[in-house]
Amino acid sequence: MIPLNQHPSGRHFLQIPGPSPVPDRILRAISLPTIDHRGPEFGVLGRKVVAGLQQVFQTRHPVAIYPASGTGAWEAALVNTMSPGDAVLMVETGHFAALWQKMAVRLGLEPEFLALPGTCAETGLPNAWRHGVPAALIEARLRKDTAHRIQAVCVVHNETSTGVTSDIAAVRRAIDAARHPALLMVDTISGLASADFRHDAWGVDVTVSGSQKGLMLPPGISFNALSPKALARGRTARLPRAYWAWDEIVEMSAGGYWPYTPNTNLLYGLSEALDMILDQGLPAVFARHQRWAGAVRAAVQAWGLPVQCADPAVYSPVLTGVITPRGVDADAVRKLVHARFDLSLGTGLGKLKGRMFRIGHLGDCNDLTLMATLAGVEMGLKLSGVPLAGSGVARAMEVFAETPAA
Ligand code: PLP
Repeated sequence: MIPLNQHPSGRHFLQIPGPSPVPDRILRAISLPTIDHRGPEFGVLGRKVVAGLQQVFQTRHPVAIYPASGTGAWEAALVNTMSPGDAVLMVETGHFAALWQKMAVRLGLEPEFLALPGTCAETGLPNAWRHGVPAALIEARLRKDTAHRIQAVCVVHNETSTGVTSDIAAVRRAIDAARHPALLMVDTISGLASADFRHDAWGVDVTVSGSQKGLMLPPGISFNALSPKALARGRTARLPRAYWAWDEIVEMSAGGYWPYTPNTNLLYGLSEALDMILDQGLPAVFARHQRWAGAVRAAVQAWGLPVQCADPAVYSPVLTGVITPRGVDADAVRKLVHARFDLSLGTGLGKLKGRMFRIGHLGDCNDLTLMATLAGVEMGLKLSGVPLAGSGVARAMEVFAETPAA
């Protein structure tokens, strides 16, 4: 452990899947003097960030902004739409899906936790934690719910604990095919502004997201993008809510203000982040993440280690989970890499503790920061005695050289 007063030379490599590195441009914006959150300049800022977020969520409908981490926005999604004892269908895709399910229990809901059955023979890990949401299972479950007790289907778009994405349009089709009125609520806390996400086109009712991943901001702001159906449900839902209530936030933020003190300086940062992302254009942002992910996966495959996501159709563009051989504590590798090379990797969470680590490749990265990251991981694996089939660093260099950035 490095004492805080002995900062190592050079930049720390923050390659966890969020918080992601904050660009200097955003840090400078955040450092501007705080202004009156009821004054005229603030309204301009507030309206700008809401309009920019609508573009990033790909929605024409309201986006509520909370001065809270992503967990707060999870809670907002549930308390604004549900009544005590409501049944919700949630899908186990990893640690974050499990935490949202636990929250639903604490709020007095009755979540049913659907999961792909079985374990993977090669790794001994649950199949549900290596694949995306099984839309066919959702459809089958909803068809059985002829009394329409289930009030919402809740899924995670980019499961940060595994590096697996889910096909949200397919979940919408499953709900429609079953002719079921349940709301579709989606967590894209780590997917937004890195992986393609379309709130309106995919028929999502509530999208939950946060600041510290693809938006390249520090933690501390989170969002609910809403549909007209979700807003209507909000008027009849009976779970208690005050701070999270959509009605006042949506009404006031249309004019650029909030019912309470917003985190002004993070909103400066958000304004700057939106300029960066929208100036580049969403298609280019998504392509950049896909290209990085391809190079990182090529490195992992060259090492001869399994990628946590077992389905190539849903590899995450945001992070890659690397499974270590049985008997090798992935957390010990991660700690060694941090101690020796000042590089932070994501830990294995929940059922994956000690079995895998995660490499974040999101936000303010480039080819060379990722090459350095892969070099740190390769050295760490070798120092930990992991037998490698080949050099991932050499393979990633080839991929980057062969596929120039657009
Ligand atoms: N959902 C997902 C997919 C996440 O990745 C995270 C955090 O990493 C959360 C929810 C919880 O968000 P927070 O830690 O900002 O409260």
